[in-house]
Amino acid sequence: MTKAIIYKFGGASVKDAAAIKNLSGILFNRLRSPMVIVVSAIGKTTNALEEILRLKYEKEDFYSNFTILRKNHLAICEELFEDEDLVFGMVENVFLQLARALEGELTKDNYDQFYDQVVGFGELLSSKIIHAYLCLCQQYCIWQDARDFIRTDGNFRAAKVDWDQTAKLCHQKLVPVLKQLPVVTQGFVGSTQEGRSTTLGREGSDFTAAIFAKSLGAEAVTIWKDVPGVLNADPKRFEDTVKFDQLDYKEAAEMTFYGASVIHPRTIKPLANAKIPLYVKSFVEPDGKGTVIGDFGGSKVSFPTIVVKDRQVLVTFQVTDFTFINESHMHQVYAELDRLKLRANLIQSSAITISICTDREVFKLEQLLAEMKSVFHVRYNENLQLVTVKNYDEQTKKRFLDHREILLEQTTRSAFQMVCRMKKGAG
Ligand code: ASP
Ligand code: MG
Repeated sequence: MTKAIIYKFGGASVKDAAAIKNLSGILFNRLRSPMVIVVSAIGKTTNALEEILRLKYEKEDFYSNFTILRKNHLAICEELFEDEDLVFGMVENVFLQLARALEGELTKDNYDQFYDQVVGFGELLSSKIIHAYLCLCQQYCIWQDARDFIRTDGNFRAAKVDWDQTAKLCHQKLVPVLKQLPVVTQGFVGSTQEGRSTTLGREGSDFTAAIFAKSLGAEAVTIWKDVPGVLNADPKRFEDTVKFDQLDYKEAAEMTFYGASVIHPRTIKPLANAKIPLYVKSFVEPDGKGTVIGDFGGSKVSFPTIVVKDRQVLVTFQVTDFTFINESHMHQVYAELDRLKLRANLIQSSAITISICTDREVFKLEQLLAEMKSVFHVRYNENLQLVTVKNYDEQTKKRFLDHREILLEQTTRSAFQMVCRMKKGAG
C-alpha cells in the first residue's frame, strides 16, 4: 500500500451545511486512496454537550438543550439531503443512543467517565452525516469508528494512547479497509481495552490525526483551518499577523505549549518523531500555500510570536509559619497538581509564596484549594489572561504592558510571559 494521507477537518470547517459542501469541494480533486479523513463535531457541538452534562449534574432540565442540538443536526441534514434520505433515521437513532447515555446518575466521582460516554456523540454525528453526504456526491468512502483503532488507558477526559496496540489495530483492521476506499472517522475519541469510550482532551482531533499518521506511517497530515496557516498571533485578536510558510517542529511545539490554539499541543511530537510533515491550510482558500511544519533543522523564528490564553486562574500558596519556600513545599504543590491533572501554565516562587497560573477547570480549583488550605494560606484571582511573547522585542512587550494590569511577570531568554487582566477602559 502506498503511504496514507491524513486530513483533519475541525468543528469550524463542518459548522453548517455550506461548510460540509465546502469540505466536499475540497475533496473534489484531492480524494484518493489510502486516505483517512478525521472530523470534529459540528461547530460548537462539544460545548453544547458539555452544557447538557452541566445541567444534568446541577439536576436542572437539559431537555430543551438536547432538543436544540438534535434539531440543529436535522436542519443541517435537511439542507444536504432529500427528504426520504436514510440519514434522518440514522441521526434520530444516534440521538436515541445519546439519550440513553445520559440516563443514570452523574456524580462528582463518575463525572469524567460519564463525560467520555457522552461528548463523543458530537463526532459520531458529524462523521456519519459527512460520510453520507460524500457518498451522495459520489465521493465514495467508508465510515469507521475510531474507537476500533485508537486504544487508550482509562484516564477519562485525558486518555493516554497505547501506541503499540493502536498501531497493531490500525494494521490489522484499518489498512485492509484503506486499500478499498478512503475512510471517514472521528477525532477526539478512543476506547479502552474493555471497550469504554474515552476522549483525548478538548480539541483533541488534531491529535487523532497525528495518531493515525504515526500508526499508519502516513505520508503527511493536513489540518484544514479557518486561517491561512500558522500565524504569529491569533488573527481574531490581532490585526497585523504574519503567516509562517514553514515552521520547525520544535518551534511549533513550543507555540502550542504556550497555548497557541492553532494546533493541539500533543499533535507535534508523534509527527516529529516519525518525521511526517504537517500542513496547516485554509478551508476557505484550499489552494493557498498554508504552512508546513517539519524538520527544518531547528531553524528559529526571528519575529515575535504572541499567544494569549484566557480563563486563567492565578493561585498563590503562602507558607503559614514563617519558613521559607523549599523543595518540600514545591513538591506538595506539584503532587497535588499532578493528582488533579492540572497543568501549571506558569509557575513562580518567592521567599514565602509559590504562584501557579492554570486553566479554570470545573471542580479542580475547588479541590486544589480544599486540599492545600491545611498547608498554605491560599489566595487566587480568576478571569485572567496569560500572555506569552516568544522572541519578544521591547516594542511588543510595551504594547502589552500599556493596556494591561500585570499580576505576575516572567522573562526568559526567549519568552516574555505575563498573567494579567485588561485595564478598565482598554480595548
Ligand atoms: N469536538 C472536540 C472539541 O471541540 C474535539 C475537537 O474539535 O478537536 O473539543
Ligand atoms: Mg472543536
